[in-house]
Amino acid sequence: MSKAFSSLGVPRATRPGAMRRRLTVAVVVVAAAAAVAYLVYNLELDGSIRKLRGSADHRLDLYAASLEREIEKYAKFPYVIGFHPDVIARLRDPSDATLLHKVNIYLETLNHRIGTAVVYILDRKGRVGASSNWNEPDSFVGLDLSYRPYYRNAVIDRVERFYGIGTIGNRPGYYLATALHENGVIVGTGVVKIDLEQLELSWSSAESPAILTDEHGVISLSSVPAWKYGTLQPLDSAARRDIAEAQQYNDRTLAPIGMEVVRNLDDTAQIVRLPGHAGTGGRVFSISGLFLAQARMLTEVPWRLTVFSDLKEAVDLARTRAVLASLGVLLLSGALVALVQRQHHLREIVAARAALQRAHDELEQKVTDRTSELTATNARLVEEVEERSRAEEALRDAQTAMIQAGKLAAIGQFSTGIVHELNRPLAAIAALSGNAVKFLERGDIATASGNLERIRPLVERMGRLTGELKGFARKSSGEAGPIRVRKSFDNALFLLHHRVAYGKVEVVEDIDANLVVRCDPNRLDQVLVNLIGNALDAMDGRDNSRLDLVAAAYADGFARLYICDNGPGLSEAWRQHAFEPFFTTKAPGTGLGLGLAISVGIVRDFGGELSATERDSGGAVFSLTIPLATEPAS
Ligand code: ADP
Repeated sequence: MSKAFSSLGVPRATRPGAMRRRLTVAVVVVAAAAAVAYLVYNLELDGSIRKLRGSADHRLDLYAASLEREIEKYAKFPYVIGFHPDVIARLRDPSDATLLHKVNIYLETLNHRIGTAVVYILDRKGRVGASSNWNEPDSFVGLDLSYRPYYRNAVIDRVERFYGIGTIGNRPGYYLATALHENGVIVGTGVVKIDLEQLELSWSSAESPAILTDEHGVISLSSVPAWKYGTLQPLDSAARRDIAEAQQYNDRTLAPIGMEVVRNLDDTAQIVRLPGHAGTGGRVFSISGLFLAQARMLTEVPWRLTVFSDLKEAVDLARTRAVLASLGVLLLSGALVALVQRQHHLREIVAARAALQRAHDELEQKVTDRTSELTATNARLVEEVEERSRAEEALRDAQTAMIQAGKLAAIGQFSTGIVHELNRPLAAIAALSGNAVKFLERGDIATASGNLERIRPLVERMGRLTGELKGFARKSSGEAGPIRVRKSFDNALFLLHHRVAYGKVEVVEDIDANLVVRCDPNRLDQVLVNLIGNALDAMDGRDNSRLDLVAAAYADGFARLYICDNGPGLSEAWRQHAFEPFFTTKAPGTGLGLGLAISVGIVRDFGGELSATERDSGGAVFSLTIPLATEPAS
């Protein structure tokens, strides 16, 4: 059974193999959940980025169009300046003060009309010949602007574009410049400065930041004021030199704004991380965290317009979906593991049932085997018991035969006396009957009848003697019953009468007349005949022989019977062989040495004991204990 139960796989939880398997499953599930989360996060984010790119493109279109439109609106004005004869005259002759005033007024009027920031002209050496702000404290008139690239690069028929901060007014602006000529000869440069701050202002009300960077990567326009004149990358020395020469940003530090590129999507798009420490500035959008930076080059200038789209929402959404997906995986895996475990458990139950069935079958087989073994053993035992009872029966038969033999031997011993007992009345009967015949012949009928009368008791005594002898010699059944002890003593004394009388033995009896014991009467007679016979033998030839016969009941439930003689007592030889069969001191032919041995066996069968002692006054005492009968003698 124990083998069967050990194969049931109990307890499962403590097995190191199962622990390792569970750990592996847990690791695989967690890894799968993490992988799914990663995949979903990226897919979701990519999807959101794709959508954001669409709207960013749209914004870029919008911003670029408005910027270019704004610039294009003023693109022809540098030419227009050159159409005025005073302007050309002023450039040709810088010393004419009247012309200066006229041109200043003309430029002021023009500036006012077209709505630009400043309109001015440079002579061939790059000095301001006249300017619309001639009347203001930061008037350009007379300034040397030869360091500005729009002066150095100005050619006829092309508008030079330049973004910079005014060196006098410190105001940023967009400069449009073209070479002015007279008869194909360059006489100076016409410049229109546009203020783009309105445009910039319109960006800051959008939902996310937008910037315009120049060819060096310096932010010239920005919806986040703090980023203005910052850079996306640290500037190299060549760029710094160019900027310094053109005094483009008027000694601004031009430090990087701290944008960090996280991933390059392609040439025009990047995922970037913005630092977010640019102050509030009245913005409606966030400027920290992950952003999609989408850029486009403008067509007329090497400038780059960039719009930022906040990825926070997309990241949050992707994160939520990734968490949900991984939770889904975990749940699914949990369900799967539970299902597999259930299957496993079911398999285990089936296996356990099979093991239990096997164990049951084994047990049944064992029980069957053991039962047949027991049946065989039982049959053997029954056989043995039968054999033993047969042996016991044989023993009992042998014992009975032995007792019978002993009895016959005893009869043999006292047969001489019996014969003598019979001979005497027979002789008397013969004499009496002979005399009776003679008295009848004489006619003395009275005497003859008296003789015949005397014959009757003799015949009766002979009949009793033969009857007793016949009863004694009968093979007894050994069955116990209530026996009057007095009767047994009388029987024994009757059979031994001749010997008692012949030996002139004084018989003294002290026998309780009502003493009843439980035993086989025939066998008690045999024992008493044996013991009294032995006593008579022991006292044979002595004077004053006395036989004491005592019998009484005792409180321990036994009767005690004593046969005492005043013979020579028990010899030393007898003590060494007490009650052993075939020990006899009697002459061959008279004793067999079986009497006492058989008597011991008979008394033991009664449930009592036979023992012998010496009498203080000499002689032997043989004592018998026999159970008392509870019912009266029959
Ligand atoms: P048997 O009478 O044939 O010898 P028993 O077994 O009856 O066999 O007796 C054995 C012997 O025990 C006798 O031969 C005798 O020596 C001794 N014995 C028996 N009874 C007495 C007795 N009353 N006094 C002395 N010796 C006895």
